[in-house]
Amino acid sequence: VAKTHGKNGFRFFSEAIDTRVRNDLELEAGLRQALQDDGGGLWMAYQPQLHAQTGQLVGVEALVRWRRTDGQQVSPGEFIPVAERSSLITELGDWVLTQVCRDLATLRNSSVELPKVSVNVSPHQLLHGCGLVERICDTLARFGESPQRFEFELTESALMDEDGSVVLDAFHAAGFSLSIDDFGTGYSSFGHIKRFYVGELKIDQSFVRGLPEDGENAAIVRAVIQMAHALSLKVVAEGVETPLQAEFLRHCGCDILQGYLLGRPMSPDQLVGYLRARCSVE
Ligand code: C2E
Ligand code: MG
Ligand code: MG
Ligand code: MG
Repeated sequence: VAKTHGKNGFRFFSEAIDTRVRNDLELEAGLRQALQDDGGGLWMAYQPQLHAQTGQLVGVEALVRWRRTDGQQVSPGEFIPVAERSSLITELGDWVLTQVCRDLATLRNSSVELPKVSVNVSPHQLLHGCGLVERICDTLARFGESPQRFEFELTESALMDEDGSVVLDAFHAAGFSLSIDDFGTGYSSFGHIKRFYVGELKIDQSFVRGLPEDGENAAIVRAVIQMAHALSLKVVAEGVETPLQAEFLRHCGCDILQGYLLGRPMSPDQLVGYLRARCSVE
């Protein structure tokens, strides 16, 4: 690309790379510092997952949040990829799980016992995660938490990779449930999925966005739910923002709904308020 735009084109091109590299290095340094300060500026948000038919809380997804020392909030969509490339992801993943356990204890003090917590695990955690499952079990044991309440969200690439699939078996053997995140955006097939102990698929929000008008996405969502059910898998729809989307998904037999319509990702404090408010209306 650079050559065809001549000397100047190349300069702009390399300046753009410079800026990106500098930005990444800055994020990496900030994140490393945050982890050294035992997660200074990092915290976990929890987003409710509701039973599509009854509206009951089936669990929450744990989502990491970061406010830098300059007060700027950085989205995980930005810093998770940086953490993955720099292998800080292992440390970050350990911090996330520990913080989830701490938050569960805090919630318990407010008499909130969550049925299930889903924690995201990115591809690099699986591949370079020697002893990942063992470490997870150790952390849970330290806090007296049982594996049965934990679910791990993996992406389709975990199913496609030899090493990844070994780790999947280890998760299952330890008693954890597994969910395939962003389903439909990768290259896995139902043939792959049925070979592993996966209990749940999360339909990516890009398919949910255009519902119900978008005929193609509507057809995809309907077909995914049918095939998943034929394999005894539960289906979660993510990114549900409107009542019409929820209605369509319910109609298709989707099991679990997650999205701004049902609840935004929130701090443990806010989650207590959210659950109390729901109890009083039910
Ligand atoms: P994800 O696991 O697919 O998470 C869903 C994302 O969609 C979250 O973005 C969530 O805040 C957002 N979302 C939820 N409901 C709605 C909605 O109704 N509309 C829209 N437009 N968005 C909605 P978030 O929190 O920015 O996280 C982005 C990604 O970062 C996650 O995607 C996940 O892949 C990664 N991530 C987040 N936390 C962690 C973590 O603790 N560990 C790892 N390894 N990855 C994480
Ligand atoms: Mg997820
Ligand atoms: Mg997702
Ligand atoms: Mg996603």
